[in-house]
Amino acid sequence: MRPVSFGKRNRLFYGIVTALLLWGALSGCQWDAADSKTGSSDPSATLSPAAAATDSVMETHPVPTPSGEIPKRKTLDELVAQYRDFGLTDTHNHDASGDAYWRMIGTWERDAVRRVVLFGDVSEPSAMDTDENAWNAYVQHPDLFIPYFSGIDLHDKSSLEHVRSMLERGYFGLGEIAGASSYSPMVSKVAWKANDPMDGYLPQIYELCAEYKVPILLHIDPPNGEPVSKLEQALDAYPNTIFIFGHINTYNSPENIDRLMGAHPNLYADFFAGFTDLSPDSGNTLKDFIPVMKKYSDRFLLSTDSGYGLQSEEAAVESMYRVIDLIDDPVVARRIAHDNFDAIIQAEPASKTQLEAIRKLNLTGDQAPDMSHLTKFEAGKILIDHSVDMSSG
Ligand SMILES: [Zn+2]
Repeated sequence: MRPVSFGKRNRLFYGIVTALLLWGALSGCQWDAADSKTGSSDPSATLSPAAAATDSVMETHPVPTPSGEIPKRKTLDELVAQYRDFGLTDTHNHDASGDAYWRMIGTWERDAVRRVVLFGDVSEPSAMDTDENAWNAYVQHPDLFIPYFSGIDLHDKSSLEHVRSMLERGYFGLGEIAGASSYSPMVSKVAWKANDPMDGYLPQIYELCAEYKVPILLHIDPPNGEPVSKLEQALDAYPNTIFIFGHINTYNSPENIDRLMGAHPNLYADFFAGFTDLSPDSGNTLKDFIPVMKKYSDRFLLSTDSGYGLQSEEAAVESMYRVIDLIDDPVVARRIAHDNFDAIIQAEPASKTQLEAIRKLNLTGDQAPDMSHLTKFEAGKILIDHSVDMSSG
């Protein structure tokens, strides 16, 4: 009978797809043990939107139920259609390491990614250039990009002046900063990494972050032992600083995250959904993390880490939507998808340098902003609208 033969064909198809996926994962795996990554300075690590679109095969590895039925898994298009007004924010993205951010714009539009926290290389001299790429991207698309910077020598005192000047210019945060790395093949080798999250001038940098109300996104591996006990020291010593633990779910357990989040109210969790969802190195499933995400739903953020170690960046976007779908509670899901990060950005006041530059514009009437409550985001938009070049000063 037709329905039976269709079912058989379906199972055969999914069997072939699963075999191909397994083969792809085994042969193409870039993940070394405990590589929680980052700093992909190779733009080819990110596929073009056209290539990424072919990646929708990742949607198809459903597990048959005991009765042999194949449960219907939502496609990326269906997820986007369902959650497109959630304002999905990717809070950790390295696409300023090259021009990948430029090629991804169409994908972000199609997938309703509302905002991207953009930076490039991690804690090494080359990051000073990629910090400028992030800035230039922001000037062209101030509603899409939130630029961070990472080109800071954490053992050089003069870097403190650089941090201040970047925050005055209008950058919204620091990251990704190598707070400790022993295993990541890339981050463990960067020239300006800290040995631990209290090393070098990091303590003074945390003070500056609190002064400017900007977050610091830290790479910390391994996510236990000395690096984490030093992070906890920092969290306690700088209670007014927002610390974001980059890709907190990589090589880490929900129980460990629960303990850390419970002990430190100024700790935010950057959840790299694609790792847990798609990497063969993940010992957990997305479902395993949903309870801890709900428990601390005002401090979880989602990210793609620009698809590091995955078949494509778009696959990592899809995984963020799968988290939202699993949360199955629109209020909580919106918080994690958008509101938590938006609240951080909205709380950043305009810098003195921004305010001065706006005053010089002599705006009058409807154009004149209320200078007493201007946020950094609003100030940045005004300056960009009036073509003021903040990068030269
Ligand atoms: Zn990263």
